Amino acid sequence: MSQPHTSSANEYSTRLQADCERCFGLCCTALPFAASADFAIDKAAGQPCTNLQADYRCGVHRDLRKLGFKGCTVYDCFGAGQQVSQSTFGGRDWREHPESAQLMFDVFPAMWQLHELLWYMNEALSRPEAAEIHSELQTALAETERLVALDASSLLKLNVPGWRAEVNQLLLRASELVRQNELRRIKGTSGRRKSYGRGADLIGANLKGADLRAANLRGAYLIAANLRNADLRSADLIGVDFRDADLSGADLSSSLYLSQAQMNSAKGDASTRIPPTLTRPAHWS
Ligand code: SF4
Repeated sequence: MSQPHTSSANEYSTRLQADCERCFGLCCTALPFAASADFAIDKAAGQPCTNLQADYRCGVHRDLRKLGFKGCTVYDCFGAGQQVSQSTFGGRDWREHPESAQLMFDVFPAMWQLHELLWYMNEALSRPEAAEIHSELQTALAETERLVALDASSLLKLNVPGWRAEVNQLLLRASELVRQNELRRIKGTSGRRKSYGRGADLIGANLKGADLRAANLRGAYLIAANLRNADLRSADLIGVDFRDADLSGADLSSSLYLSQAQMNSAKGDASTRIPPTLTRPAHWS
C-alpha cells in the first residue's frame, strides 16, 4: 500500500474517498439515523435503509435533498466502506453471506475512524511547513495502515479512541507549524488577530470577509455562520461544524484538515476556493 509524500498526496487521498461502487451499502445499513431535518425516516443500526436497492445503489440518489435525506448527501466514509467490503471481507456480500453481516456492520465504524485519521495524516504530510515531523507522521501512518489491514475480529478489539488520541498529538503539532508559518508570512499585513478557543460557539456569526488566516478553529460551531468572502487559508478546521454556513466566495484553498463532509454540509458557490483534494459539492451553484 503506497504511503503519501508531498507529490503523491492527491493520489493517496483518492483512496480515502468513498467508492460506493465497491461498497455493500454499509453507510446505508450499518449506521442508525433518526427522522430529522437531515433524514426523512428513522432507521436502526444494522437495518438496511428502505431506499437501498438489491444492487446496493440508492433508489432515490438523484432526489435525496428534495426527499428530506440531506444527511446522505453530506456523509463521507473516507473510503472505509470499500475497505471493509473488498479488503476486510474480501468482497463477501452481506446479503449472500448473512452470517457475517453483523460483524461487517460492527467493523465499519472502527474502519471509518481509522480512515479519517489517514486522511488527516495525509494532509499533514502534504504540508512542507510541517516537514520536521513528517518522519513521525509517516511512522504513525504506517501503523494505522497496519491496523486497517487487520482481520475483522482484531479490528473490533482495537482501542481506536486511544490510537486517535496519540495521532492527534501529531496533528496538533503539524497544525502549529503550518499556522505559525502562515503568521510569519502575513506579519505586518494585518492588524491584531482575534483568537478563538477550541470548540468556539460561532453559531450564526457574521464573519463576512473576515481574515481568518491561520486561525485555530478546531471543533468550532460555525452552524449557519456568514463566511462569505472570508479568508480561511491555513486555518485549522478539524471538526468544525459548518452546517448551513455560507462559504460563498470564501478562500479555503489551503485550509488545514477540511473534509468533504464539512464542505457538503455547507453552502458555497462557484467562487469558493477549495483544496485540490476535495470536490465542489453538487448543491453549490
Ligand atoms: S436514502 Fe439512499 S443514500 Fe440515504 S441511507 Fe437510504 S439508500 Fe443510503
